[in-house]
Amino acid sequence: MSGATNGPRPAAVEVHDVHKWYGAQQVLRGVRLTVRPGEVTVVVGPSGSGKSTLLRVINHLEKPEAGHVSLNGELIGVRRQGEHLRELSERAILTQRSRIGFVFQNFNLFPHLTVLDNVAAAPVAVGRLSRPGARELARDLLARVGLADKVLAYPRQLSGGQQQRVAIARALALRPGVILFDEPTSALDPELVGEVLAVIKDLAHSGTTLVIVTHEIGFAREIADRVVFMDDGRIVEQGTPAEVLDHPRQERTRDFLSKVL
Ligand code: ADP
Ligand code: MG
Repeated sequence: MSGATNGPRPAAVEVHDVHKWYGAQQVLRGVRLTVRPGEVTVVVGPSGSGKSTLLRVINHLEKPEAGHVSLNGELIGVRRQGEHLRELSERAILTQRSRIGFVFQNFNLFPHLTVLDNVAAAPVAVGRLSRPGARELARDLLARVGLADKVLAYPRQLSGGQQQRVAIARALALRPGVILFDEPTSALDPELVGEVLAVIKDLAHSGTTLVIVTHEIGFAREIADRVVFMDDGRIVEQGTPAEVLDHPRQERTRDFLSKVL
């Protein structure tokens, strides 16, 4: 079932020729992307180019009209040219989704739960840990993101940077094979961006597989193994940060970078 890989380990994420429409508007136009285990992929591109949609397709929040996605060599639903070939059950989709962490621009914490229970909720909900076990894990993860002293606070009592660090700890609680970040620092005041990027950098160095949509080009240059530039529903070019950010081959990439750098 797995797509082509070079080594014995399948790709962490493989996106095969994905096409996605919203009504009459085509927003993904044949996207192919391979993310290897432990690799950090940074996706950049103008607003409306399909970056969030790509993450949502990977996480099975959206179904592509054509193409498919596999995780660790396991398919997530298959459709080809509108023909319905195979689809996973709801249960299988939930299992797949529990192997993917998702960190949103606006944190999306549960406002009525403490920081501790925001992090502990998912492992209990999927039946993986008891509540005491999940809370113990949550304390460890919150310490890792520098929030050991905030476990009993509610999200509204935290800064945006602290809330986003809780969201990262929450994503880690299911021990996902890959974590997707959709503009994790875009909603933050500038002085809070650094503390969130530092946590993501720590994850990158610990070998977690990450796919990060961001406009922080300096950060991309620092941590990405691969930079992907998207425009108008397509991957226009991809490569190392030096290739894509310092020596872009495509006019559209140069044009974009001249606006954001
Ligand atoms: P990006 O994250 O790169 O800004 P998006 O993936 O959010 O781009 O959006 C790509 C295009 O799809 C945009 O034109 C956007 O307006 C459209 N779009 C995104 N989500 C929806 C939706 N749920 N319904 C209709 N159109 C959408
Ligand atoms: Mg977006």
